[in-house]
Amino acid sequence: MAIRQIRIDGDPILRKKSREVNEINDRIKILLEDMVDTMYENDGVGLAAPQIGVLRQLVVIDIGDGVVKLINPKIIEKEGEVIDVEGCLSVPNRAGTVKRPERVKVKYLNEFGEEKTIEGTGLLARALCHEIDHLHGILYIDKMIEEVFPEEEEE
Ligand code: ZN
Repeated sequence: MAIRQIRIDGDPILRKKSREVNEINDRIKILLEDMVDTMYENDGVGLAAPQIGVLRQLVVIDIGDGVVKLINPKIIEKEGEVIDVEGCLSVPNRAGTVKRPERVKVKYLNEFGEEKTIEGTGLLARALCHEIDHLHGILYIDKMIEEVFPEEEEE
């Protein structure tokens, strides 16, 4: 188990595109484990590899139903629109509203190289879109409609 350092907005690596994974070797599996550990350590619901400085198409997500590890994830269907508040471990102490699809379907490879799909609505759809954006060098603040300040959220 290893906690990796999270790259913060301003780090150029967060703006680069991640490469597809062609071979799921031990290095990739360890990387996924480290991403899970790093996500939990920082109380995140998702983490993408560029956030720990690795430009590979790897995402981990746990919205409270257990962890999902996604290799080469791609959105293949989306439907509807929802505006809700989002934050990011790479953009600390900020939050803002972003428009995301209400439902998405994503195809990916699991750790065993099997092709899978995951369908999500609400928070899961939002997390999937947010993390897949990271693989393309996109941060939520690029799409932010309005900044939300914590004191407003509590009202
Ligand atoms: Zn993020």
